[in-house]
This record gives sequence, C-alpha cells and structure tokens, in this order.
Amino acid sequence: MLSNVTEYLKRSAIAYPDKIAFRDEQQSLTFSQLERQSKALACKIASALSGKTKQPIGVYLPKGVACIVAFFASAYSGNFYTPIDTAMPKARLSKIFEALRPAAIITDAAHNEAVMEVSPNSTVIDVETWLDGKIDNELLNRIQRTVIDTDPLYVMFTSGSTGMPKGVVVSHRSVIDYTEWLAETFSFTEQTVFGNQAPFYFDNSILDIYSTVRNGCETVIISEERFLSPKRLCLYLDEAGINTIFWVPSALVLIANSGVLETACPTGLEQILFCGEVMPTKQLNIWRRAIPKALYANLYGPTEITDVCTYYIVDREFGNDECLPMGLPCRNTEILVLNEDNRLISGNEIGELCVRGTCLAHGYYGNAEKTSAAFTQNPLNDKYPEKIYRTGDLVRYNERGELIFVGRKDFQIKHMGHRIELGELESAAAAFHATERCCALYDGNDSRILLAVVPEKTDKAELYQYLKTKLPRYMLPGLIVTLPSLPLNSNGKIDRKKTAELLCDKGK
Ligand code: AMP
Repeated sequence: MLSNVTEYLKRSAIAYPDKIAFRDEQQSLTFSQLERQSKALACKIASALSGKTKQPIGVYLPKGVACIVAFFASAYSGNFYTPIDTAMPKARLSKIFEALRPAAIITDAAHNEAVMEVSPNSTVIDVETWLDGKIDNELLNRIQRTVIDTDPLYVMFTSGSTGMPKGVVVSHRSVIDYTEWLAETFSFTEQTVFGNQAPFYFDNSILDIYSTVRNGCETVIISEERFLSPKRLCLYLDEAGINTIFWVPSALVLIANSGVLETACPTGLEQILFCGEVMPTKQLNIWRRAIPKALYANLYGPTEITDVCTYYIVDREFGNDECLPMGLPCRNTEILVLNEDNRLISGNEIGELCVRGTCLAHGYYGNAEKTSAAFTQNPLNDKYPEKIYRTGDLVRYNERGELIFVGRKDFQIKHMGHRIELGELESAAAAFHATERCCALYDGNDSRILLAVVPEKTDKAELYQYLKTKLPRYMLPGLIVTLPSLPLNSNGKIDRKKTAELLCDKGK
C-alpha cells in the first residue's frame, strides 16, 4: 500500500519517462519532466517555508500543466494544495484565503498582482522561475519519510450554504484508495487518453489527474473555450486521440441536444463516465445510439467522500422516462441509507445517503462546527468511534437493489401539505419529448413550484398536459418559464441559484 501519491509519479517516471503525461493548448509534459519540475518547485516551497510541512499551499494558476506541477510539488514538499479559480470574484477569493491562510501561494507573473491585491502579506512563489531549479534529493527524501497516508493531499473549497466557502480536507490515503478502485473497475492503461473537462478546483478532476499518474495514461486538458462549440469540441476529441472522458452531465447533454453526434460523432470514445448531477436518460440514449460500443457509467459522490462512492455501469436499455441508477457502492465503501429515525430504510422508503469508509475526508478546514454536523458518529454503532458522512442527498432502492437518486434534502419542499422532491418533477419534465434541459425550484414567498425549461420554443400547455399524466396534481408547476439555455456554475453543472433569479425576473 502506498503512503503518498508521489510514489505513483516515481513509478511512472521510471516506466514511461518520455511518454506525455499532461497536455494543454500550449505545452505538454512527459512523466520524467513532471517529476523533475515538481521536485524542483518542491525544493523552492521547502526553502520558502523553512522546511515546515503540513501547510496549506494555494495554487492560483489558470488551468494547464503548470497546475499539475504545483500539485505534485506541494505533495513532494510535505504540504497540501488548494486549487483556486483565477476567474473567481475577489470577494470570494478573500474568504478562501481567510479560511485557508495559505503558507505560500504558487502563481505566475500574469496573476501575481491579483494575489497581492487580496493577500498582500502572502509568500508568493512564481512557478515559472523555479521549474528548472536545483533538486535537493536528500531534503525531499527526508521530508517524504515524515509524510503518512492520512496526511492531507489537498483542500478543495465547495460553496457553503452560509456564503462562507468550506474547505474539504482530503488525504493521500483517500485519493490512493479511489485511484486503485478506478484502475480495477475501468482498466485504465498507458493507452488511455483522458479528455479533461473538470476544472482543477472541482474534485471530478482527481480522476483524470491521479489515474493518469497511476496508470501511465495521458490527460489532454481541454480549454473552456472548446466547450462553447459542440461540433468543434467533438472534432477535437478525435483529433487529440481522446478515448476516455469523465464529464459533468451538463456537458454531455449540451452535445446530445446540439445534434452534432449525427454529423461529427467522436467515435474514438471508448469510456464515457459522468458524475456531478443527474444524467437524463433521454440524452444518454442519444449518446448510446451514436456510440454503442462505448462503456457508460454513472458515478456519484460529493467532494467530502473523495469524488465518487457509488457507481453504475450502464448494462441495459432505459426508456427516456426511467431514472438511471447510481448503482452500488465502490470497493471499500459502505452506503447506509438512513431514515429520519436514523434507521436503515426498508421497502420503498426514501432516506439520506450516508457513507462509511476510507474515502471520507477529514472534515472542513478550520471549521470544527461544520465538520461535526456533517461527519457524525455512525448511529448504527454505539461500541466504538466510527464516522459517517451525511451527504444531504435523498435516495431509495429500486426493485433490483440499485440506489436511485431522488434529490437533495434541501430541494425537498412542503407544498399544500405534501412533501415533494423537486427532482421527481425534473425527471418527469426531462422525459417530455421537446425538453432539452429543465430545473424545478420552489418560490416560498408565493408558495408555488417553478419549472424552467429549455428550449424557449417549448409548448408550455402541451408540457403541462404531459406532466398531468405523470404526476399528482399537487406536484404540478405553478409557473413554467421557457428559456434559451440554463445558467451553469463554474463546475459546469446547472446553477440553481442563478436559475431562480432568472425565474423571479420572468415570473414578475
Ligand atoms: P460536489 O461536491 O460539488 O461534487 O457535489 C456533490 C453533489 O452533486 C452530490 O451531493 C449530489 O447532490 C450531486 N451529484 C453528484 N453525482 C451525482 C449523480 N451521479 N447523480 C445525481 N446527483 C449527483
């Protein structure tokens, strides 16, 4: 068992020294270059921190290969990294720096000023200056001997409901456990070429990064601009030799809705994995018809359990109105679905998905209160301390014993005395023949259910009649608003808050 992700890099740099590991629009890095540059930068970090370890390192760089060097450099130096979105508003950046208090910030010349503005007293390391620096192997070896697998590898910030971002602390051990499971389940090899969509500050990117380094794969870091044109994106996938993608469903839905799979189908894709939100079966079916030979898998999980804790490899046909299962727990992970009395659900009951295993994060950085609210003692075990993570996601089992996503606890509403899962309305609306995308929300002030639907030309009356045949009266929307598109958040998922603002404006 490894104790540190840098051991993956050490092995791959020996096995595939000259093979490209990561590539962006400007440059590429082989495994040996990645190892060399990371170690050189690590020595700079160690000297800037006077050898102190287990310190937070902010990585404030645009998405590209330099970020990967900074991540491994942080690990080599015995510290942990936090990827920060360079497009983030200054106010949120300040909050993250306030919560993290980074011991050093790795950036480049173009972003130095922005860092200085928000955090004038920080120790700033310019990545470009140190990549070719001298490597003190003795120092790095000494540091490595003090790193154990429960030490943090990264702190990833998610949006907190109070407006204060929460930093999820994830260890080497959790990432190694996840990466080993992925290798076993999806048989990644040195032939695997990932087309990375996930921003590095979003934990879906963990799959691309660590699987590449573990298995000698290649990751092509696809720029955000390429996602603006489905046709150009699809052509690029084949051009770049990409055979494996792990994307948010919104990105796959965009391509399916554009019709481009009929004219510029990326037939080189062999594995199409997705995670982060519900994948509508209608659009999945479009993909499956276009590339029938590919493996499709629905992965589920929040940042707090290291990206993924359940998975379903699509193995049968689904009607457009059927839900895609979340499947079963990953190896070395147990799922407990608890009802309001903290007992395991039975029959058709719906409960909160809770997770037990090595995948659990340590908690929220510098926030003991939020940590103890979400990471609690397993209520089914009163004999010794054992943590579970409460996801806030509601699920049930289908007749095959597979987990089905019902919705977020926060999207469960009480309307006219009925308890309603907005996710259920969404899946019914998504199955309507004309729907490309949809999002259901609740307007508590006016006590009405709102439904946003794309495309704009959707016949609202026809949709309403359709919903009447699928749902009880009390679940029908009080207002349907059609839109040309739905706003996406920085991770590429539907942005529910912005959608609510749009609906409020339109509903007035
Ligand atoms: P994040 O921590 O940003 O990765 O968001 C995690 C949340 O995204 C989960 O708690 C779920 O609400 C949602 N999610 C992730 N994967 C799926 C999936 N396969 N199906 C439905 N919702 C998902």
